[in-house]
Amino acid sequence: MKTLSIAAALALAALAPAPADAALKVVTTVEGLASLAREVGGDRVQVTSLSRGIQDPHFMDANPTLAVKLRQADLLVDIGLDLEIGWLPPLVNQSRNPDIQPNGKRRLTAASAVAVMEVAQGPVDRSMGDLHPAGNPHFMSDPRRVARVAAAIAAKLGELDSGGAQAYQARLAGFRSRLEESSARWQAQLAPEKGRRIVAHHNSLTYFLDWAGLRAAGYLEPKPGIPPPPSHLAELVGVVKAEDVKGIFLENFYDRRSADIVAKYTGARVVAIPGDVGGFKDERGVLDPKDWFEYMGALVKLVTGALR
Ligand SMILES: [Zn+2]
Repeated sequence: MKTLSIAAALALAALAPAPADAALKVVTTVEGLASLAREVGGDRVQVTSLSRGIQDPHFMDANPTLAVKLRQADLLVDIGLDLEIGWLPPLVNQSRNPDIQPNGKRRLTAASAVAVMEVAQGPVDRSMGDLHPAGNPHFMSDPRRVARVAAAIAAKLGELDSGGAQAYQARLAGFRSRLEESSARWQAQLAPEKGRRIVAHHNSLTYFLDWAGLRAAGYLEPKPGIPPPPSHLAELVGVVKAEDVKGIFLENFYDRRSADIVAKYTGARVVAIPGDVGGFKDERGVLDPKDWFEYMGALVKLVTGALR
């Protein structure tokens, strides 16, 4: 009987080992996570990021074509802490892929692997515009936390593809040793600037500054996601002068007019920084980070260059 033979063929296909080219389809919300997945996954994974490095990850369009990518995903890796709350949940629902739902077996939320900074003490009202109600989600510029995220990705990949578990751990070990070498080099570059203060548009550098031994004197946004009123800029001009701030940093998807105003009255430099891996070029078109190492290297270079 024909139906039986089809059923039998399907059953046999399910039992047969997966062909070598059946790479795990990994979808990440941001490019930095995609880079880590490629580092630890190697040839066993095929990685796609839903957002580009030139986009603000807080405000992506929930474009239905992205739901198609999620439908076919063997693993979804997101940042968490509400970074993607405006666009990821509708896409995950549209994908009809039950395993990538929050806490699903094919979902990894990177924030669960790291110690979170700036966790609000009291109640936070998102309707007031605060974009970080669950704590600061911008931990991908801290090599210590990135090491933990990479380990979580390697563990998850090994869980979903047990035949590759050893390979993922071996690649993770290689990634970690590169990370240690690079961190030592970056720390040496930053050493003369320790303790210096900077101003940023959004508090996206909190973890970076903590790792780098630098401090934020203030932010252009009075609260994450709230555009600066003139009174706040006037106050910031005073802070920049008093604390001898040399650099005002902002991801290049932000409007730089407010930063330029503060710079005009203080002499501080406005420096556009990469928001993530991919798509970014600095003012001279030199830095265009293709992977997480290049992104971190670019950030360290731009920050140290502005503080000198
Ligand atoms: Zn943010």
